[in-house]
Amino acid sequence: SSFDQMGIKDDLLRGIYNYGFEKPSAIQQRAVVPILIGRDVIAQAQSGTGKTSMIALAVCQKVDTATREVQALILSPTRELAAQTEKVILAVGNYINIQVHACIGGKSVGEDIRKLEHGVHVVSGTPGRVCDMIKRRTLRTRHIKLLVLDESDEMLSRGFKDQIYDLYRYLPPELQVVLISATLPHEILEMTNKFMTDPIRILV
Ligand code: AMP
Repeated sequence: SSFDQMGIKDDLLRGIYNYGFEKPSAIQQRAVVPILIGRDVIAQAQSGTGKTSMIALAVCQKVDTATREVQALILSPTRELAAQTEKVILAVGNYINIQVHACIGGKSVGEDIRKLEHGVHVVSGTPGRVCDMIKRRTLRTRHIKLLVLDESDEMLSRGFKDQIYDLYRYLPPELQVVLISATLPHEILEMTNKFMTDPIRILV
């Protein structure tokens, strides 16, 4: 299987190959196409499997860069992971002119406001800061069509459950959800029941 057979746009393929990837990892082979056709996906996967690049690929393919609205929201348990995901999106999306903002605690709120008001296509953040920006109406949610919950078990063990449920209420009803988690305890399955519709489950 190859990236060429996934229906990925040319300028994105160029970014992927230029980044040094030759063929998709196992998780990319199994999850990218279902995500691209709009399915909700639960991926049980650890870091190191290519999950971050999978998110980047899916987000870059799905976002319409002709309109400067936030269309994809990625939530991560740590500032480092949220920043890393931003970096990978910018790298593989090098030829599609995608605008990403890392919305993370510890950075200035003023910078968040400036970037978000200027207009970005993707927000990669931690639940606390993202929830804050949504409530201030600085992060407008109306055009968000894809929500990615990365390292979901880790987000719950860091106490982000309430903020995730809270911010979910602000997202449009016809939302596509991709959930990634190393483990699938009861609390994660509850989230999948609440947020997802007929999800495909992938174990890598
Ligand atoms: P991740 O789990 O996305 O953080 O990826 C782990 C490592 O594998 C990173 O160094 C990625 O750059 C690399 N990687 C991800 N996908 C691929 C791929 N399709 N081909 C080669 N390397 C990859």
